[in-house]
Amino acid sequence: MTQITNHMPTAELQALDAAHHMHPFTTQDELAGRGARVITRAEGVWIHDSEGNKILDAMAGLWCVNVGYGRDRMADVAARQMRELPYYNTFFMTTHVPAIALAQKLAELAPGDLNHVFFAGSGSEANDTNIRMVRTYWAELGQPERSVIISRKNAYHGSSMGSGSLGGMAPMHAQGGLPIPGIHHIDQPNWWAEGGSTSPEEFGLERARQLEKAIQQIGPDKVAAFIAEPVQGAGGVIVPPDSYWPEIRRICDEYGILLIADEVICGFGRTGNWFGSQTVGWQPDIMTIAKGLSSGYQPIGGSIVSDAVAEVIGKCEFNHGYTYSAHPVAAAVALENLTIMEEENIVEHVRDVIGPHLGAKWEALTEHPMVGEAKIVGMMGSIALTPHKDSRARFAADPGTVGYITRERCFANNLVMRHVGDRMIISPPLVMQPDEADMLIERAWKSLDEAMAQVK
Ligand code: PLP
Repeated sequence: MTQITNHMPTAELQALDAAHHMHPFTTQDELAGRGARVITRAEGVWIHDSEGNKILDAMAGLWCVNVGYGRDRMADVAARQMRELPYYNTFFMTTHVPAIALAQKLAELAPGDLNHVFFAGSGSEANDTNIRMVRTYWAELGQPERSVIISRKNAYHGSSMGSGSLGGMAPMHAQGGLPIPGIHHIDQPNWWAEGGSTSPEEFGLERARQLEKAIQQIGPDKVAAFIAEPVQGAGGVIVPPDSYWPEIRRICDEYGILLIADEVICGFGRTGNWFGSQTVGWQPDIMTIAKGLSSGYQPIGGSIVSDAVAEVIGKCEFNHGYTYSAHPVAAAVALENLTIMEEENIVEHVRDVIGPHLGAKWEALTEHPMVGEAKIVGMMGSIALTPHKDSRARFAADPGTVGYITRERCFANNLVMRHVGDRMIISPPLVMQPDEADMLIERAWKSLDEAMAQVK
């Protein structure tokens, strides 16, 4: 058998990849046509490909490599843990030190009475846990009919049957029989695309009040929870108007429904606080975590749960769990990641240094002729591409075409930015330095110029 290594010619690696590896969210034609970019190594905010390019990763992988690439400490901890206890589970009255230590640390970091952690292998699994947990919570309280979970259109909460149903991505719902019953979607607070002639503040209130309308329509005694990201990430880094969250919190309180903050992207410093819900000013009952929890060095996720919810769930046997819940190697690596974040004051670096530095330059991208709004919270940002800023017009081409062209120009300029339709998004490693942020902006500007020349 041929040994496959980084030293093989790129075309050969790409051909083998296209022949045998099924990629998420990718067509086989695309893979077989030009081949996937082969990433070989990485350090800091930089990734390298098999063609020798050094690329600025303004997406931190998939929004996850918060402490940056190439941390030896994480590798050392993983190796040590694998030698000592590579695997054990926490089912049926067993536990281990990495699980205990990580749960304790998360309880310390999470605000308010979020003191209990149910571990999973990913954000999708954690959101599946949340569906079962909130329904079990109400059933245990004698209200089993309280089972509907309200979410938002264009939200992303994962790819499994449950989490994909919580998400509001139409192309995902078109495949495989999603959503599962009992999930209801309201509109997203995307003023740029959907606000029409209303002011952002009015629009924020109107979108928040859709939650109240939905609760009244479904019946307040049937609604279990509302789930949302503090800042909607994969939907296009949608920053809601200021009026939105206070109204949502009021409605959740008034109807006594649980509020789930999906912190898979927003958590662990990305918005300039440990958790995005702190940045937007509300206290959830449950938080979904993954990604930045281990900076992507190991697959791990979980749900951080309030005292009140944990108390109810703890009274029954919660018939739920994954083989890799609280995997000792993943837990040890996640704990090391949090230690690095604390030792290097990475949250403060986002809040006081790199967030404001990048933020000012990012917002100035609105001076580019093709950029409408530019939004950024901490280290997650988006720009809306438009042929006409004042009217917030869309391009004549199919939605996403100009975004796709811009993403391709970014790639050509050794910058990874993603597009969601005609919105460009970034979520760089939190350890980015000011000179690297300047490079990001320079490359983004150049790519926008080149895309604009192609569109005209
Ligand atoms: N929730 C949010 C907000 C996400 O962005 C994602 C992934 O991008 C998930 C959940 C799913 O996490 P995972 O891909 O680890 O299953």
